[in-house]
Amino acid sequence: MNSMKSLMRGVMPALSRAVHSGTRTSSSTASRAEPAERALTSEEVYTREDRYGAHNYHPLPVALERGEGVHMWDVEGRRYFDFLSAYSAVNQGHCHPKIIAALTAQASRLTLTSRAFYNDVLGVYEQYITGLFGYDKVLPMNTGVEGGETACKLARKWAYTVKGVPKYEAKIVFAAGNFWGRTMAAVSSSTDPSSYEGFGPFMPGFELVPYNDVTALEKALQDPNVAAFMVEPIQGEAGVVVPDPGYLTKVRELCTKHNVLFIADEVQTGLARTGRRLAVDHEAVRPDLVILGKALSGGVYPVSAVLCDDEVMLTIKPGEHGSTYGGNPLACRVAIAALEVLEEERLAQNADLMGQVLRTELSKLPLEIVSGVRGKGLLNAIIIKETKDYDAWRVCLRLRDNGLLAKPTHGDIIRLAPPLIIKEDEVRECVDIISRTILSF
Ligand code: PLP
Repeated sequence: MNSMKSLMRGVMPALSRAVHSGTRTSSSTASRAEPAERALTSEEVYTREDRYGAHNYHPLPVALERGEGVHMWDVEGRRYFDFLSAYSAVNQGHCHPKIIAALTAQASRLTLTSRAFYNDVLGVYEQYITGLFGYDKVLPMNTGVEGGETACKLARKWAYTVKGVPKYEAKIVFAAGNFWGRTMAAVSSSTDPSSYEGFGPFMPGFELVPYNDVTALEKALQDPNVAAFMVEPIQGEAGVVVPDPGYLTKVRELCTKHNVLFIADEVQTGLARTGRRLAVDHEAVRPDLVILGKALSGGVYPVSAVLCDDEVMLTIKPGEHGSTYGGNPLACRVAIAALEVLEEERLAQNADLMGQVLRTELSKLPLEIVSGVRGKGLLNAIIIKETKDYDAWRVCLRLRDNGLLAKPTHGDIIRLAPPLIIKEDEVRECVDIISRTILSF
């Protein structure tokens, strides 16, 4: 406690940005005028966040202030390769000029109308995105988890109004190891205690089957009250778990056979990340509902969406679902630009090629430290054997010291997911950094 206090004393002169952003002067510190701001050190950035922010994250200690393309810079000016891409939200690279131009042009024109009125951009976006992905309609939301909630609500509505499931008996099946966000519904379907522990009671009507297990799925879908099976084509947060070839094809077959909606959660895997526009494209299957998020924002402004056909989408009537910000003109312009960049720069093709280079090189790392390499496109992971000398967290700290930012997921797994604009010489430079780091233990 004392050490925290003395740390905070050291930080206090740098607090001017925070205290001058409001009008309240409830403490003598807050009312003291700061003549000039000085740049914070990394340590000061950590300490201030720790002091004033909730402790719901455990960030790697690096304090970033700028991003461009595949790089980010910290407050001391050190440059890093970004190998997380904000969990695949920055597929197009940091501050992509076309996306920033779309954002700034629309920002000074019209930003938010709410859906109480029409606006002149929403329809342009709706027509573009439905045409690109081949669905009748889109429902715009903001975050990935809202996309998941929307899909679940659509599935329940469809179950009652189309499939004929008795009122409030609809079930949605999920795969163990899923991650689709942090709302009560999302944690209710989670098998990860750090997501659900302490947050019950949970949402009823959710069932689980093991991931990548078609026999278990077939058994679960025999229940006539099942409305939908919601699944990630590759489980991202679970540690980049790639199912067997043919799994998604079988999911499609079983859902069709049992009149169950196939919901693909492509929030992390979609939008070129795995080397195809959607990860389900690897098996050329068409889900009934697709959830998009993250990179639909181009990394600049939250945008998510659910795509499906009229039979499902039109079960929700005016006033039954929505969001104040969903479909706002700023978000729509950003999303159009974000999608156009993926297409114009052929980022799915680049992710496919660069992913092959990355995995080929990573599989040459010593097996006694890196026990596995897996992934598709530029959604990859290495598995670090844990010993008393090293673990995934310590590897990430040393990667940071060597100029590359990545984050462990589930203890021993490090996800490697750079922006999709990365070039081959940069991939090779990053492989050198990773090898050097691993061999230094
Ligand atoms: N779905 C998947 C597959 C995700 O990986 C995530 C976030 O990591 C989400 C949904 C939730 O997205 P958001 O954090 O934008 O709510």
